[in-house]
Amino acid sequence: MDFFNGLLTPESENVTEFFFNIQIDCESTQRSVNDPALGERSIRGLGEIFSRTGTKGTFVVIPSDMKVHSGVYRELESEGHEVGLHVHPAEQGYEEFLGVYGFEEQVAILKEAVDRFADSMGRPPAVFTPGYFSANDHTFPALEALGFTHGTVSMPTRNLPQCACVWGGSPLDIHYPHRYNRSLSGDVDFVDIPPTVDVDSRMWGGAHPQDLRIELVDAKNHWYTIHKNVQRQIENGSNVPVKYLKALTHNIFDYANASDFRRETILGVIAAAREICEGQDGTLVPATAADIAETYRARVPLPERGLQLDLDTRGRAAWTGGGAQPNAN
Ligand SMILES: [Zn+2]
Repeated sequence: MDFFNGLLTPESENVTEFFFNIQIDCESTQRSVNDPALGERSIRGLGEIFSRTGTKGTFVVIPSDMKVHSGVYRELESEGHEVGLHVHPAEQGYEEFLGVYGFEEQVAILKEAVDRFADSMGRPPAVFTPGYFSANDHTFPALEALGFTHGTVSMPTRNLPQCACVWGGSPLDIHYPHRYNRSLSGDVDFVDIPPTVDVDSRMWGGAHPQDLRIELVDAKNHWYTIHKNVQRQIENGSNVPVKYLKALTHNIFDYANASDFRRETILGVIAAAREICEGQDGTLVPATAADIAETYRARVPLPERGLQLDLDTRGRAAWTGGGAQPNAN
């Protein structure tokens, strides 16, 4: 490899960089949980786990949690972690799911939460995740209009119409979303970073893919999801311009407690992610979602227009081409 070129290329020829991010949806003050003391132990415990393992967290916080824990979030941010917005519309007096609302209503719900976030943190949030990954075709343009730059909105293959959450075969990898169709990539100035999922391992009656959600299964089961996703991204090479693993959890587990099962699981997931990436001649790069989104923006310019879809007519050509004609019946 030419040394000079090597300095300029974003990835070395031999080492595949895998960004690693853990997102924590923070909602300990949600009516169904209502345990802010647990929420604080949880985020402080996670901060300690991240510093011990050299990893980074992205804390997305509902406004009522932000109000009681803003001091801790300021500390976590000063330690290099990311703090942004999570929204459960019912906690603000609306219906439960964001994905039932139109553009203007979504902007209003989100703006209300943005303002409450800014009151506590002294700045608006840049990163966003909706509760239940509930969204519709208005959601990405609404986020763009409010100045959000990135987030985790899609959950590929989750099919829960009862939560206004239907993603179908949306992209597994980081992308700019389409302006009019949430399951396509496009030209919305917002970087969507889907969580790591195994689309073949179905849960909840087939409606949900096994994702890298710490509390879902144990570290042994997560190992296979990590391994499969590392393999998939390596096989797809430059078609995946930013390779990453994204784990999820919530601040409703006592991560400060040394004997907590979730704490054991998250430590196991971090160790497995490192071991698997290094075993594939890769390296694990601890990252916030902002780090991942900025790297993507640097490598992939925002397209001027959304994905162009062409009808796949290969079958029709074979049907009418010179080959044997079908029997008319
Ligand atoms: Zn939530």
